[in-house]
Amino acid sequence: MLRLTLTNLLNHLLPAPCLMCGLASADFQLLCPECDAALPRLNREPFLCRCCALPLTSDAALCGKCLQKPPAFRQSSIAFRYEHPLDHLIHQFKYRRQLSSGKLLARLLAETCRHSERPDFLVPVPIHWRKRWQRGFNQSELMAYWVGKHLEIPVLSACRQEHYHHSQKGLSRAQRLKNLRQSFSIKPANSLTIQAAKIALIDDVVTTTATARTLSELLLKAGAKQVDIWALARTPDH
Ligand SMILES: [Zn+2]
Ligand SMILES: [Zn+2]
Repeated sequence: MLRLTLTNLLNHLLPAPCLMCGLASADFQLLCPECDAALPRLNREPFLCRCCALPLTSDAALCGKCLQKPPAFRQSSIAFRYEHPLDHLIHQFKYRRQLSSGKLLARLLAETCRHSERPDFLVPVPIHWRKRWQRGFNQSELMAYWVGKHLEIPVLSACRQEHYHHSQKGLSRAQRLKNLRQSFSIKPANSLTIQAAKIALIDDVVTTTATARTLSELLLKAGAKQVDIWALARTPDH
């Protein structure tokens, strides 16, 4: 209680400046109202694929890919289009280890997902230990932890990436997908916990949906009841 009050007091005396424009005020934390309004929110898009949240140019229910090859996941709650200035915040968090950017992004993701169907667990997209060691953390795991705190949902790091592919360049699409499929597995210690569980898979940026598709297939095969995707940003189709 005392610590909470002290934190509030410190925030008031030394307000954390807006991470985008640098303006500091006790009225907001890390993002000023103007920069907040300028964020490329996906819910402003007129049409989105109901499954993978890809921005569409017409009011079709599903994008071509989801129509042709329906993914195992049920639906996606994605906060933003992956474009400026959001890419900058994600970059600051992922590659410059600016945790305040990560915390802000987690708060924004939690706001987006607050009204989505509540899962039993948040499961972060895993990264290989070598990548984690290089980066110092798994960005999806940290996001899951912070979003879980905001929404009071437990985090379960149920998946792992065992194989590390240095480069997938020059490989066929089928070979790349096969590599991806073989590189993930469920941690044996979590296989009982995920039985019949509703899961939200936490990812930072959804690009081709290949990772989301692979992991949701894996989780459902292992006994999960349903998998949704909760992610920060979606790259538009080019
Ligand atoms: Zn600002
Ligand atoms: Zn789609």
